[in-house]
Amino acid sequence: MPILRVALNVPIDTLFDYVITEASLSDIGLRVCVPFGARKLIGVIWGVCTETAIPVDKLKSAIAVFRDIQPLPADLMALFSFCSKYYHHPLGMVVINSLPAKIRRIKPPVLKSEIQNVVYLLTESGRQIDRSSIPARNTVMHKLLEALSGNTQLDSQQARKISVRAVKLLKQWTAKGWVEEKHDEIFFDTSDSARKMSLPKLTPEQSTAVSSVVMQFDQFNTWLLHGVTGSGKTEVYLRLIEKALSENKQTLILIPEINLTPQLEAVFRARFMKTAIIVSLHSGLNDTERLRGWLQAQQGIARVILGTRLAVFTPLPDLGLVIVDEEHDSSFKQQDGLRYSARDLAVFRAKQAQIPVVLGSATPSLESYHKALTGRYHHLRLNHRAVKNASLPQINCIDMRSGKPRIGLTGQLIHAIKNCLSQRQQSLIFINRRGYAPVLLCRSCGWTATCRRCSSRLVVHLQDKKLSCHHCGHCEGFPYACPQCGDPDIKPFGRGTQRVEETLSELFPAARILRIDRDSISRKNAWQQILQTIHRREVDILIGTQLLAKGHDFPNLALVGILDSDISLFSTDFRAGERLFAQLMQVSGRAGRAEVAGRVLIQTEYPDHPLYQALQQHNYDALAQNILAERKLAGFPPYVFQALLRAEAHSVNTVTDFLHAAHKLARSIVGSLKHKNIEIFDPVSATMTRLKGMERAHLLIQSGSRQNLQFFLTDWYRQLNTLSSSRIRWILDVDPIEF
Ligand code: ADP
Ligand code: ZN
Ligand code: ZN
Repeated sequence: MPILRVALNVPIDTLFDYVITEASLSDIGLRVCVPFGARKLIGVIWGVCTETAIPVDKLKSAIAVFRDIQPLPADLMALFSFCSKYYHHPLGMVVINSLPAKIRRIKPPVLKSEIQNVVYLLTESGRQIDRSSIPARNTVMHKLLEALSGNTQLDSQQARKISVRAVKLLKQWTAKGWVEEKHDEIFFDTSDSARKMSLPKLTPEQSTAVSSVVMQFDQFNTWLLHGVTGSGKTEVYLRLIEKALSENKQTLILIPEINLTPQLEAVFRARFMKTAIIVSLHSGLNDTERLRGWLQAQQGIARVILGTRLAVFTPLPDLGLVIVDEEHDSSFKQQDGLRYSARDLAVFRAKQAQIPVVLGSATPSLESYHKALTGRYHHLRLNHRAVKNASLPQINCIDMRSGKPRIGLTGQLIHAIKNCLSQRQQSLIFINRRGYAPVLLCRSCGWTATCRRCSSRLVVHLQDKKLSCHHCGHCEGFPYACPQCGDPDIKPFGRGTQRVEETLSELFPAARILRIDRDSISRKNAWQQILQTIHRREVDILIGTQLLAKGHDFPNLALVGILDSDISLFSTDFRAGERLFAQLMQVSGRAGRAEVAGRVLIQTEYPDHPLYQALQQHNYDALAQNILAERKLAGFPPYVFQALLRAEAHSVNTVTDFLHAAHKLARSIVGSLKHKNIEIFDPVSATMTRLKGMERAHLLIQSGSRQNLQFFLTDWYRQLNTLSSSRIRWILDVDPIEF
C-alpha cells in the first residue's frame, strides 16, 4: 500500500505518514484530510513512498485526497522547504498558513463559482423601479440603485464599498427579478489603440533603468532601483510589467500596505485593465476574494499580482518578473509566527525562476545598499524628479536650543504655515505619535500612568477621555486624582497628533485641518475619502503620523513641518537612525511634487547632527556610508548575520531559566568545534520587557557567515525542542529587525 508523507499545521517539525489505497507521485502537492489524534486535519502531500521507518500496520489511513485544484507546483513547495529550513519553523505550519483560509478547511468549498467574479446589473423591471416610492431613509437602496443606473454593473467588492449590507440586498433583488447576476466576462481590447494609450516619455534616467533590466530579462539579477521621491519609479515598474506581459509572463509586485496605496493599485489598473487581469492579495480581502485571486494566479489567469507580504507565497506558473516597492519598509518582515522577510523571499523566488527582481526605494535598506555597493545587486539610480520643473524640496532645520516654545510650535514654523494659508497652499505637520499626549503625569510625586499588562506608558486620548496602551490595546478612564499621592492636579505631558491639532485650530481658527493617524482612519474606506478631500483641496493643514509618509502624491503640498523627531536620534536600537532617515526622506518627499515648490522645516535641538545634515543635502549616500562604517566597526548587520531566540512566559523566572539553558546548549554546541565563528550573547530583556501580560527576553547569536550561522542554528534548534515546556513560548527570529 502506498504511504503519503504529509505536511500538517502542527508545531512539530516533521512530516507525518499515512497509508492510502491508491496514490501516485502526481498526487504530490495535493491537499489531504487525515486523522490526527482525535481531530481531522488538512495537510499537503509532500511525498509518496512505499515504506517508512514506522511499520505500516501502525499507520492510520488518510481520509480523503482533494483534487479540486491543481497540486501546489514544485517551485512553491521548494520555497516552503527553504523557508522552513532558513527560518527554522515547522514545514507544515509554513505551508498551511500560507494557503487561503477556504482551502485550509477539511470540508473545502465548491470552487467553481469562486474563481469567477459575479457582477450584478439591473434587469428591465429593475430599471423601471420608481425611486421616489422608496422612503428616503433607505439610503443603501438609493445608493445601490444610483450606482446601478445607466447600465453600470457592480461586482461584490464594489457593492460592499457602498454598504456591508449591499450584497445581501442584491441577492434579494435577484430573487425579485430586479437584478441579474452575471459572471464577469473579461474583455480584452487588443487593438493598437488600446496598447498605445498615451504614455509619458521616459526621462533619460528612467530609460536607462528600463533598458538595463529589459536587456537581461531572461536571467536572474537583483536590481536596486534607487530613485529619489518623485523620480518616477512607478513608471519604470509599469514599463517592465509591459515587457513581461508581452512575453506572456506573470509579474508579482509586493508593496508594504495595500490599504494605504490605493493610488498605486489604481495606476496599475488604469494601465493594464484592458490588456491583462490584475489581482490584488492583501489582508483587507475576505476569504472568498482572497481565494479567487489566489486561484486566478495559480491558473495563470491573473497576469499581474499586486500584494502585501503574504502574496510572496502565491503559486505563479508563468512568473517572469518580481518587483518589491519600498523595499526598505519593515512591514515586509512578518513579526509573529513565521518571521519571514517577504523581500528576501522575493529575491529567492526570482533566483528560483531565473528572472529579474527589482527592489525599489528612495532610501534602500542598508542591507540592500551594501549589496549594491559590493556588486551583488545592480544599482540603478534616478537622481532627478520625473515631472518637468518639479525639484526636490528645500529642507531646513529650525534650531530649538534657545528654548522650547510653550506650545510646541516655533514662531518660524507658525509663520511658514500662515504663508501657506494665505497662498492657498497645503501644509503638513508630521509627528509620529498619535493620541493627545504620550504621558499622564503627577507633578507632585512623579507618578505616570502605565499599562498593567505591558512595560509601557498609557497614552492620553483626550477626545474620548481615556488612557490607552498602544501595545496591547488596553483602555481605561481618566483617574480623578493621582493614585499614588492623591493630588488631583495630574496633567498630560508631551504631545501627539491630537494635541497638535488642538494647538493649530486655536492658532488658525479659519483653517480646515485634518488629522490622519490610525485613530482617524480606523473606519474602512476612510482612507480613500481622505485622499479625495486632499486632492480636491478641501484641506489646508494636514497633521499626520508615518501613515502619511508613504508613497502618496499630494500635488498642492508646499510645506512639511517635522516635530519631535529628535527622540529617535538617541535610541538604543541600532537601526533607529536608518529608519528615521528613511521616514523623514519619505515625508519630505511629499512636498513639491508638481508645480508647487516644496519646503521642509525640521524643529530640532541638534541641527548639526549628521542625519539632519545629510537630509538637508538630500544626501542618502553620505549618511548611509557613515552608518555602514559605524556598523562595520561595531560588528552589526549587514556585516554580521543575526538570529534571536525570543522567549516569553508569565513568569520572569521561566523565561530566564529557559534562556540560560538555551545559552548553555549553544555554548556546548559551539564548544564541540564543529561550528566556527559563532558569537553567543548573554540573555537580556526585550525592549518591551512585558507585553500583554507576558515577560519577554531574548538571546542573540551572530556570525560573520550566513552559512555558519545556519549550520549552527539547525543543530541548536533541534536541541531547543527538547528543552521545551508548556509554560514557555519561544521562537527563532532569523535576521531580526526588532529587539
Ligand atoms: P516615485 O515612486 O519615484 O516617488 P512616482 O512614480 O510617484 O515617483 O512619480 C512621480 C510623478 O512623476 C508622478 O506624478 C508621475 O506621473 C510622474 N512621472 C513619472 N514618470 C514621468 C515621465 N517620464 N514624464 C513625466 N512625468 C512622469
Ligand atoms: Zn502623585
Ligand atoms: Zn498594554
